Amino acid sequence: MKLVWKLTLFNTFIVSITILSLFWIFYKSMERGLLKAQQYHLKSFTKAAEAKVGRWPIALRRFFVKINGVIINDPFGIGPYLDKEEGIVKIGDEYFLVVTSRKENKEISLAANITPLVKGINAMAKAAFITSILGIILSFLIAFLLSRYSLRPIKNLAEELSKIGGENLNTRLNVPRTNDELQQLATEINSMLERIEKAYKIQERFVHDVSHELRNPLASMKGFIGVLKKWGKKDEKIFDEAVSELEELIHEMQTLVENLLLLAKPQEMLLETVEVKKLVEELIKRLQTQRKLEVSIEGDHELRTSGEHFKIIVKNLLENAFKYAKSHVDVKITKTSLEVTDDGPGISKEDMDKIFERFYRGDTSRDRRVSGYGLGLSIVKELTEKLGMDIEVESEEGKGTTFRIIWGENA
Ligand code: ADP
Repeated sequence: MKLVWKLTLFNTFIVSITILSLFWIFYKSMERGLLKAQQYHLKSFTKAAEAKVGRWPIALRRFFVKINGVIINDPFGIGPYLDKEEGIVKIGDEYFLVVTSRKENKEISLAANITPLVKGINAMAKAAFITSILGIILSFLIAFLLSRYSLRPIKNLAEELSKIGGENLNTRLNVPRTNDELQQLATEINSMLERIEKAYKIQERFVHDVSHELRNPLASMKGFIGVLKKWGKKDEKIFDEAVSELEELIHEMQTLVENLLLLAKPQEMLLETVEVKKLVEELIKRLQTQRKLEVSIEGDHELRTSGEHFKIIVKNLLENAFKYAKSHVDVKITKTSLEVTDDGPGISKEDMDKIFERFYRGDTSRDRRVSGYGLGLSIVKELTEKLGMDIEVESEEGKGTTFRIIWGENA
């Protein structure tokens, strides 16, 4: 059921209950009031009847009068039908009000014809009832128009929203200047659209960058396969070279895919105690097999964190240090941080702001043809944020770079 109908029916229901209750209270109190007045009026005549001696007072001739069971006056011919001593009695189409008073051993009953009064009350009640029904119909119409008027801005918002899709995510809703919940709703939807647009753009750029990054190695692989087909069978040297190039390319693509998976869906966080020095030593041992560098490791700490995530952070920083260092890499572990310093080319000021962006590769990597896809530091950044750690970089061009991961006192 549409909201406008729900609101209309609810309002009409409330108004109907109110009108009908008022009508009922009015009808009942009017009926009781008039009958009481009539009863009081009639009672006053019993006094006259009590005092009667000799001739009947003229006023009493209009009433049915019974004294001590003997009918004295019966202008309506109701004597045999009166079965009550008090209250209203209906005989045929007529209504009679009976009152009885007892004093000493005298019992006097009077009955008056109140048919015009009862009919009058009923006619008034009928009129009041019809007015109430008209009131209810009117309130239904007013409730409908008011609900439609108040819900129109929501309908407009819904219509505007239905026109927004992937291709026009930059569209924003018109915010009604009504200073109420609707204005708040439209503002909130607009800021949500802003966030969705941002996320959508990042995703779009990500997909674009990934396909772009995959294009080059795939083209190279195709090239090497062509070489293999043409000369591989005849020339063993060419065969070996092409195969090792293909291996290298496949390894690079594997790393890229792993990193992409990591960015798309980071693993679950499992807290454990990490012996930082031991971890650094293990990682460096592996890196030394690719590039022999002077390495120093200072300090140690037992850190309570997600081991898997922390390992990826340290691995990426050490890999970079090994990629860019000239001759040595220094690692310093304290109670609150881990520092990786190399004596490489450093990072320029312009690059400094961008190195944590996905797929950004700085001057140092381009000039020196270092392998990589510009994903390492963006992974480091995301994971440190996830672990509640901070990352700092200090670098001087031509002298070297220090990356510092800070986990604070409590970790
Ligand atoms: P990649 O190293 O694969 O290019 P990263 O995201 O790890 O990607 O790094 C982004 C860029 O930051 C690199 O291209 C490089 O220019 C710069 N960079 C990172 N680490 C260092 C470092 N230790 N020394 C100099 N430049 C660095």
